[in-house]
Amino acid sequence: MLFNPYPLHKSVVCERCAYRYNVAPKPGSCPVCYNIFEKLESLQGLEGKAAIRISGFNEENYLFNPRSTLASDIRKFILERNNLVLDYDNAETIINVTPEGYSLEKGDLFLFGRYFKLKNMISQKRWHRKKWNSVEEIIGDYLSQIYKPKAYYMHASGREDVDAFNIGGRAFVMELQKPESFQDFQGLIETPEVVAIIYGKVPRSFVKLVSDSHFDKLYLCHHDPFSPEERKKLESTFQNLVISQYTPKRVENRRAKKTRKKTVYWVKSFETFTYVAAEAGTYIKELFHGDEGRTTPSFSEVLGREVRCRDLTVVKTWDFFLDVLKNVRER
Ligand SMILES: [Zn+2]
Repeated sequence: MLFNPYPLHKSVVCERCAYRYNVAPKPGSCPVCYNIFEKLESLQGLEGKAAIRISGFNEENYLFNPRSTLASDIRKFILERNNLVLDYDNAETIINVTPEGYSLEKGDLFLFGRYFKLKNMISQKRWHRKKWNSVEEIIGDYLSQIYKPKAYYMHASGREDVDAFNIGGRAFVMELQKPESFQDFQGLIETPEVVAIIYGKVPRSFVKLVSDSHFDKLYLCHHDPFSPEERKKLESTFQNLVISQYTPKRVENRRAKKTRKKTVYWVKSFETFTYVAAEAGTYIKELFHGDEGRTTPSFSEVLGREVRCRDLTVVKTWDFFLDVLKNVRER
C-alpha cells in the first residue's frame, strides 16, 4: 500500500494519477504530475541519440511507487514512444521537459582532428582584433559549409606561438553547435596555410581530454651558424637535463609568474638548424637566448654568446589520441 501524504480526494487530479491513487478524477491542473504526460503524448517518432533534461518539477506529491520518481517516469514515458538511445555524451537531440511542456533542441557535434600550420603569423584561436587569420577560422569555416552550425569553437591540445610552424600536427576537437546534420566526416582539409586531418566524430568528453592534455614535443629551430665544437657542446650538455624557466617576459601578462622545471631530453644540432626534444610546456625560444637569465641553463649560457632561435617548428607531438579514438570507436 502506498503512503499518500496528499489529500488527493479533495483536489483536482488527472485521470492518470486518479487511476494510480484509486480516487475519482477531477479535470484540471494536476498537482501530482503537472499533466506532463498528456503534454508529452505528441512527442513521438524521434530517433537517434538523445539527452533528456528535466527541470522545474516538485517531486513531493509524486509517490506512486517507491522505486519511481516523476523524472524517471517522464524518461520512461518518452523512451516508450520514441526510438531513442539516451546518450548524453553524443546527444543529437536534447529534449527539455518542464511543467509547461517540452521543447526540442539540437545537440552539438564534435570532430577530432590534427592540424598542421604551414605558414606563420596565424594564431590558433580567433583574434578579436582580427590581426591575424586563425587556424580555428580556417578549419571552422570549412566545416561550417558542410554542417551549418550556429557557432563553432576549437579546443586544442596546447598551442604554438603565432610565429611558429607546426608540421608535427596538433590535436584538437572542433565543437559545432547545433549543426544541421550529424553525419560523420573523415578527411583532409587543405589550404595553403593550414592542413587538417579530421578523424571523425567523438563524444563531448573528448573536449576536456584534449584541452587538458600536454605532450612532449620535438622542435626544429633555425639559427645563425653554430661551429662543430658548439654543436657538440650543446648535444652533450642537453641530455635529459632539467632546466629552470621563470615565466618569459613575452608572456608574463598572460601566465602565472613562477619557475617551471622542464626536461630537455636531447638536442641534435646541425650548422644552421637544431632539433630539440623537450617536455610539454618548455619555452624553446627562451631555451636558446636565456631570456636575460630567466631560463637556465640556456644555449646562450652554455656557449657563452648570444644565440637565437629564428623560427620555430613543432615537428612531432608524442600524443596518444589515436589509441584513445580507436578505443572509443570499438566500444
Ligand atoms: Zn496527474
